[in-house]
Amino acid sequence: MEIKKIVLVSHCVLNTASKVVYYNKKDITQEEIDRKNFLCAAIKEDVHFLQLPCPEFNQYGSNRWGHTKEQFDNSFFRDNCRRMLESIILQMKEYISEIDKFEVLGIIGIDGSPSCGVNITCCGEWGGEFSGLDDISEVIDRVNVKNEKGVFMEVLQEMMKENGIDLPMIGLRDALEKIIGID
Ligand code: SF4
Repeated sequence: MEIKKIVLVSHCVLNTASKVVYYNKKDITQEEIDRKNFLCAAIKEDVHFLQLPCPEFNQYGSNRWGHTKEQFDNSFFRDNCRRMLESIILQMKEYISEIDKFEVLGIIGIDGSPSCGVNITCCGEWGGEFSGLDDISEVIDRVNVKNEKGVFMEVLQEMMKENGIDLPMIGLRDALEKIIGID
């Protein structure tokens, strides 16, 4: 019997409409190139996709601002992520248990995202009322990147551990090489 290969992907790997609106299009060019290269190669290799929910769209909709990890790092956001991931964990368990039918290759995240980053995430002390600020650029300058996962991926990793699931988590940039085997 043919073994179907499955990869779990962050929601916006398949649906960029879920992303925060970018006003400077240059910022997304490399991610878009990586996304299309990965998807084309994965389809050609007959890899199947299991799409994770978008935690930000599901909680804040399409008109949200970009956020930092610190703004999402609270028990409410984490609890909502946990609920969104419950059925994903069940699906993972089912696919993993049927080793004659399926091979689950890993999880592809979006580096830089405060939610779905795998290796790096956008950080910074943000919050409060914008209209009371004299210098918005000073607040924007507080943004930095850290070598850690976004909140949603941290919750997913916790839940996988609780359920004895061990799969690699890979940033989209490295997905072509690490999932498809193309440099
Ligand atoms: S929260 Fe995750 S899935 Fe949603 S747009 Fe951001 S990176 Fe993509």
